[in-house]
Amino acid sequence: MARQLDSATRDALVERVRFYRDLGLTEFYRRPVDLNAEAAVAVEEPVAALVAEAEQDESQRLQTETFLEDQPIPPRKPFPAAPEVAAAVPAADRAAALQMIRDEMGDCTRCALHTGRNKLVFGDGDANARLMFVGEGPGADEDAQGLPFVGRAGQLLNNMIAAMGLKREEVYIANVVKCRPPGNRTPEPEEANTCSPFLFRQIDVVRPQVLVALGATAATYLLGHRQPLAGLRGRVHPFRGMQLIVTYHPAYLLRDPRQKKEAWADLQIAMRELGLQAPKAGSSR
Ligand code: SF4
Repeated sequence: MARQLDSATRDALVERVRFYRDLGLTEFYRRPVDLNAEAAVAVEEPVAALVAEAEQDESQRLQTETFLEDQPIPPRKPFPAAPEVAAAVPAADRAAALQMIRDEMGDCTRCALHTGRNKLVFGDGDANARLMFVGEGPGADEDAQGLPFVGRAGQLLNNMIAAMGLKREEVYIANVVKCRPPGNRTPEPEEANTCSPFLFRQIDVVRPQVLVALGATAATYLLGHRQPLAGLRGRVHPFRGMQLIVTYHPAYLLRDPRQKKEAWADLQIAMRELGLQAPKAGSSR
C-alpha cells in the first residue's frame, strides 16, 4: 500500500523537486531506506504527477504575466557615499551589536514608509554568518511577521540556501529598506538612501565572507551605482573587504522560473568563494 504524505510535506517535497529540476538537476537517487520498498516507490509517482501539475500551472501563469528582468530603480538621484567601513566587532559581541542597531532604529519614522508598516523587518539569522543575503524590502508576509523572506519568495530562498548545503539559521538575511513599500513597489531613492545606512552597519557587524545581493535594487544600493543586472551577475565584486555576488531576487524567479538555472550559477560562485560543496541528493543535514 502506498505511503501517504501529509499535505505540508508533499507541498514542500514538490517545491524542492521543482527547484532542483529548474536548476537543471534531473538525476536523483534514493538512499536505501528501511521502509517497504514497494511503498517507497509508490510515493514517487504522485509526487511526479504533482510536479507536472504544478509546472502546468506555472506555464499557464507565464502566459498571462508580463516579465521584466527586474523592477526598475525609480527616479535618478545621486547616491550618497557609502559610510566608512566600521571597525570589526569581535564575534562574541556581534549579536549584541546588531541589537544595538535595532534599538537605535526604535519605532523608526525616518522615512515615509513607516506610515504603512505593520512590523519593522530588521534582519534575521546568525550574527557570525559567513554568508549574508540582502533583498529589497519586506512584502506582506514579512510585514505581518517582522521577519525577512518568510513568504513564497522566502521559501524559494530557503531552498536556494539548502541547495548550497547550508541551513537558513547559518546565514544572515536583511533588506535595503526595513518597512514594506505600499503595494510592494520598489523603494524610492529617498527611502532607500534613508534606510540603507542601517543595512551597511548590519553588514559591517556581521562581516560575512560573501554577500549576495538579491535583485537590482539591492545591488544598486550596495554598489552605489545603477547597472543592469545582466552586467553585474556572474562575477565577484570586491565590497567593503568582502566578496559581493549579484543574482536574481527570488520573487522574480517565482515569476520566471526559467532563470533559476542562472541564479544557481551565481550561487555556485558564492559556494566556490566559501569553499562549499553542494549536498548530495538524498543526504540530510
Ligand atoms: Fe525607518 Fe527604514 Fe522604515 Fe524608513 S524604511 S521608516 S528609514 S526603518
